[in-house]
Amino acid sequence: MGRKVAFITGGSRGIGKEIARKFAQNEYNIVVNYVSDKTDVAELEKELNQNGNVEVLCVKGDVTDFSTCEQMVKDAIEKFGTIDVLVNNAGITKDNLLMRMKEEDFDKVINVNLKGTFNMTKNVISYMMKQRNGRIVNISSVVGVSGNSGQANYSASKAGIIGFTKSIAKELASRNILSNAVAPGFIETDMTDVLSDTVKESINSQIPLRKMGKAEQVANAVYFLGSEENTYITGQVLNVDGGMIM
Ligand code: NDP
Repeated sequence: MGRKVAFITGGSRGIGKEIARKFAQNEYNIVVNYVSDKTDVAELEKELNQNGNVEVLCVKGDVTDFSTCEQMVKDAIEKFGTIDVLVNNAGITKDNLLMRMKEEDFDKVINVNLKGTFNMTKNVISYMMKQRNGRIVNISSVVGVSGNSGQANYSASKAGIIGFTKSIAKELASRNILSNAVAPGFIETDMTDVLSDTVKESINSQIPLRKMGKAEQVANAVYFLGSEENTYITGQVLNVDGGMIM
């Protein structure tokens, strides 16, 4: 039997890149998606495949577009013949108080975070159903559970992901496809780099472990839920947040 294959959306930076690296370290072949022209594909492949013993396919495409997702999945199947794990990680923020939030900023965040998750999952499950095995891990956020001032669009998208994850866990369990969500707290990446030191200090004071998390700490949880080590957990939300939400 060939190597297992993990498909990670938004794998060019931050949490997604660490998730891809973790699966590669565990000898999965990797498909990473990204959207911007800034990505140096050769460098990314090298970074992900540090052991040099797995294959990495980088696919550029916007997850908000259904037919693009269909094509990216086809490309992955053509190269590797299977997708065993799908990690819906691509995500953006466009924060503002609701009073000032533009309609387009609401739509954009819902489209990338929630509709993107639908687009990818819908295209992958037919393959997983045929092989009667699969793991789906969706990246939500603690604010999808708790809400957050200035993030009505983002929190709604991340809460939506939780409802989606639980629904498909029920639909797909009979085919041995397990679907779970990971809800990170505040993790050091480009997304949180924009926060001021004052905001970061105030966030840290609300975290029992008193510090922001690292992408690798999220990747460890995603790997566990997405790997064959997980055979009996489905429809769950695992917080990786230093104890912020209990
Ligand atoms: P980054 O901003 O560091 O990276 C975002 C990734 O998503 C990049 O790879 C980017 O690709 C990709 N991406 C963005 N838009 C699209 C799109 N339309 N189609 C395909 N790919 C896209 O984010 P993080 O690593 O911080 O976040 C990863 C996930 O974790 C997100 O879902 C985020 O909401 C969630 N999260 C993050 C937290 C944090 O504190 N950082 C906390 C809770 C949840 P490119 O490089 O090409 O732009």
